[in-house]
Amino acid sequence: MEKMQFKAESQRLLDLMINSIYTNREIFLREIISNASDAIDKLAYTALTDDKVGISREDFAITITRAKDARILTISDNGIGMNRTEMEENLGTIAKSGSLGFKQAMEKKEDIDIIGQFGVGFYSAFMVASSVTVVSKKYGEDKAWRWDSDGADGYTIEEGEREYPGTDVIMTLKPDTEEEKYSEFLEEYTLRSLVRKYSDYIHYPIRMEVSKSRKKEDSDEYESYQAVEILNSMVPIWQRAKKDVTEEEYENFYREKFFDFNKPLRTVHVSAEGTVSFKALLYIPGKAPFDFYSKDFKRGLQLYSSGVMIMENCEELLPEHFRFVRGVVDSQDLSLNISREMLQHSRQLTIIARNLEKKIKSELTGMLENDRQSYEQFFGVFGRQLKYGTVADYGAHKDATQDLLLFYSNKQGKLISLKEYVDSMAEGQEKIYYAPGEHTDRLAKLPQVKLLADKGYDVLLFGDEVDEFVPQTLMTYSEKSFCNVTTEDLQLQSEEEKKELETKAESMKGILTFVKQTLGERVKEVRLSANLGSAPVCMVPDAGMSFEMEKYMKRVNPEYAFPVGRILELNPEHTAVKAMEKAVIEDPVKAADYARLLCCQAQLMAELPLEDPVAYTELVCKLMQ
Ligand code: ADP
Repeated sequence: MEKMQFKAESQRLLDLMINSIYTNREIFLREIISNASDAIDKLAYTALTDDKVGISREDFAITITRAKDARILTISDNGIGMNRTEMEENLGTIAKSGSLGFKQAMEKKEDIDIIGQFGVGFYSAFMVASSVTVVSKKYGEDKAWRWDSDGADGYTIEEGEREYPGTDVIMTLKPDTEEEKYSEFLEEYTLRSLVRKYSDYIHYPIRMEVSKSRKKEDSDEYESYQAVEILNSMVPIWQRAKKDVTEEEYENFYREKFFDFNKPLRTVHVSAEGTVSFKALLYIPGKAPFDFYSKDFKRGLQLYSSGVMIMENCEELLPEHFRFVRGVVDSQDLSLNISREMLQHSRQLTIIARNLEKKIKSELTGMLENDRQSYEQFFGVFGRQLKYGTVADYGAHKDATQDLLLFYSNKQGKLISLKEYVDSMAEGQEKIYYAPGEHTDRLAKLPQVKLLADKGYDVLLFGDEVDEFVPQTLMTYSEKSFCNVTTEDLQLQSEEEKKELETKAESMKGILTFVKQTLGERVKEVRLSANLGSAPVCMVPDAGMSFEMEKYMKRVNPEYAFPVGRILELNPEHTAVKAMEKAVIEDPVKAADYARLLCCQAQLMAELPLEDPVAYTELVCKLMQ
């Protein structure tokens, strides 16, 4: 029979498994059992709506059999099974889900120790077995198939024999060596303790025939007999009382279930009684999955009903703004005989979802208030998601998210919440000031920001492009309105000061017109400003939209983008402006150069690209001569 070859990367993983010097080989059992459990989940789900399955819930089981002399360990299940194509696809390639993280880590050549931390899947059998045979019959099909491989040189598939649907994974253990006694995986004691350690929560019985002894009747002698023992307690971790679950158990479950080898940042175990009773185990990850901000990422929680997994990613249970949460929900109150589509719109799901949203919010709020360091770590990873959540649907979800946002405070030099900003507002301060830009450190140097700082007013420095949409969506926070210091009038002058500026503008009308004429279409208007502090000039956008928003639109939505009008503001007190004023009368050619130079400077400070950087450099050189 022709041997088929493994896909290249699968072969690499296999080689790693076969030659593994890894000490935690025992995890192969967990992987094989977990596959068996998944396969039963699938058939159990089918059975809900398909009478022909003919297996009642109690009869689903995973069976461990041992042939000690032949060194064969078999794990059987009566789950959904595989047909020929599926065998080829699933056992010939690294599976997509679990092994992917492993694959990536392998590419990065990280430590071999990662083996224990990933769901490395079926191939882990080759850490203990010299050859593996899989016999499987898919539910609803007539033929059974047999897959054979010794890992090293490919595999074969031929017709096999199996009466009922399900799968046997038959492993011939490697010969014992000085260091490694593979035969221990045939021992009752070892298998029992491995199941308890790794697979206790599997909600189907894991059966194994064991020898027991009993006292003979009417005699003092003992006799041994064979009996079937159920090795696992079958209580899923989320069904257990919180006080009975250790931190380590929560973490291990998370790692295995969600294929993340990092520790979760927070674990939330919910047990709710009421109109809808349910148990939930939620995790806030410490790192974002690699595809988190892409379309491929599926949000949602795993949904179980009375121990049967009915949906892998139930989106309805998790609002978009908390899409980073992973977890499991189990409720007996869901009607299972309705279709998935109907279930997704059921009232029960809505109630559970609302309850979970509150739980997540309060967990995050608690972290924000009591464990700032962890919260900042969290925010660094998922903060952007919370901001998107705040602005989505015209702010419909802001109550859940606005208090969880952090922005960089110019005054305090660290991230603060909107509440913290408002609570520490200066005497007489009416507005929440913010400045959008690309870099917070550059923003801190803006004349407007400096001016406000001199008055003791804090400014939130927005470095993320979504930031600016937050005040636009919220409109107010705690009854305070927002003010974009780069686009809006700061209204800091008294009536008198305004009058004074007007008079000044009147007297400098000639030079303002001169500058406008020199710059032509480059600016929409030239005017004086008293807000510039020590800066000579400043470029501000005309009405509403900021330059940052203009850049954003250009990139994201070019067909709707339009240039925002540029207004050049001059500081009448600045020596450079005074020098230009003088030159207008004495040397208009030089004055025109000054005007162009100041315009370029204003553009640079506003982080606007120069239309002609070469001309700018030439201009500077010319003026230096
Ligand atoms: P993963 O479980 O992470 O997808 P595995 O390598 O463990 O990766 O398994 C690959 C695939 O093989 C599974 O996704 C499943 O489709 C199939 N498979 C493995 N074991 C069984 C089984 N006992 N019954 C049915 N299908 C199985």
